[in-house]
Amino acid sequence: MNAAPRQITLDEWDARYAELSAAGLCEPPYGGRLSRHVVAEGDLRLRTLRYDNSPAALRLWNFLLTEEERLHQSRAMGRRIVGAMKDLGTVPVMAYSLPNLVAFYPDGAWWIPCVMELSDGLLRIADSLGIDESFCPVRAMLGAFLTGAHFPLPDMLTCSVGATCDDFSAIAQRLNGLGFPILWWEMPSRRRPDPGEPAVCLPGGFLAPEAQVAFVKSELERVKSALEALAGERLDEAALAAGIGAANQVRRLLAELRRLVFTAEICPLPALEMLIAEMLAIHFCSDRDETIAVLQDLLEEAKNRIGARRGVLSSRAARLFWVNPVADLRVMNLLEECGGRVCGTEYLFCHALDEIPEDLPPMEALARTALADPMAGPAADRAERICADVRSFGAEAVVVSRIPGASHCATEGDVIREIVKSRAGIPTLEIEVPPVCDSVIPTLRSRLEALVETVQERRQ
Ligand code: SF4
Repeated sequence: MNAAPRQITLDEWDARYAELSAAGLCEPPYGGRLSRHVVAEGDLRLRTLRYDNSPAALRLWNFLLTEEERLHQSRAMGRRIVGAMKDLGTVPVMAYSLPNLVAFYPDGAWWIPCVMELSDGLLRIADSLGIDESFCPVRAMLGAFLTGAHFPLPDMLTCSVGATCDDFSAIAQRLNGLGFPILWWEMPSRRRPDPGEPAVCLPGGFLAPEAQVAFVKSELERVKSALEALAGERLDEAALAAGIGAANQVRRLLAELRRLVFTAEICPLPALEMLIAEMLAIHFCSDRDETIAVLQDLLEEAKNRIGARRGVLSSRAARLFWVNPVADLRVMNLLEECGGRVCGTEYLFCHALDEIPEDLPPMEALARTALADPMAGPAADRAERICADVRSFGAEAVVVSRIPGASHCATEGDVIREIVKSRAGIPTLEIEVPPVCDSVIPTLRSRLEALVETVQERRQ
């Protein structure tokens, strides 16, 4: 089953799949050829991506691409479904602590226009509701709710408000107005503690006033009560602590995977698969235990490749730190085609990667984790964290990938680039990536190649 690590096309994966199957590949029930998702679900973008050729990557992709099926199965089995919007990793930890609840992330509809190459019509539906392209691609979520053609309509919807982006607030309010009731919970804008004010250190290192943590905790208590009512049972401290322990297992696996991949001399796993692996931290792709198994496989593959001094890219690849998720997954391939590799990321949810404190009462620990959301504080806080991670992963340049229409992207790129330039002293580049980027690939390619050349000149 061992083959030299490389990136292959979807067609090549069919041939590889046949070879692996003949050699006795053992797969979970959602396994199978990747190409079936193009025909069965209309995931047309898969035809243009390049994939890692390991069985671990095959499992990761199949796990990702079967999430909707898994949610429908959960409903058929009588489990209640929670749509956890705009909190990136807090409400799902509570929901998965109750055995008959499953949580998912409706914001993930963000990627449907890309994966289906706009054939889904979701952005047109959002347009017709007055949510046009001046909003970020998360507006596709509105179409997904109205058509019901993607995920099952949840039994309960939660959404954080307050210190969240204007785009999501407006879109979620529109959704509520269309007859999808939402349980709102408020996230205050995180501020630095005043001199002498009681403060706590949050996971990830930000400081926040104790009073803000207490407020978030009281908001999360309201959400917990609603989840208990939906589940028809109490969520006691022991069950929540166990849920936090399982979430931390995911976070520890990811931390180890990121450390190994981003610091290895020869890059063992591609940026695209790493992006998807990181996304699993938010809501476990609707199956927490399977998330752990998928990550364990990837970690083992990365360790084996590093041990054998094998990888998917040249050891001379420019070490880039990537800020913000890309609306078109194709760009994660493109940056590698241009001679780069990803050595560090900040995809807007680094707080979902930090371990949740296990030496605190569970609700207090969750409140601290929620308040550590990079988007709940000033862009300068995000930039500080990026600088710290740039140093620890040894990145040689930073790419800020702007999201079209996203309100926070109008100014944060400049703030981040200025702080990175002055603190880390490395080159930065800002690009914008639309949901299907084919028409701008030549421009993106020349800009990324220029950055890679700059990095290589600096090495001399
Ligand atoms: S504007 Fe940014 S933070 Fe808000 S939903 Fe879009 S991508 Fe997420």
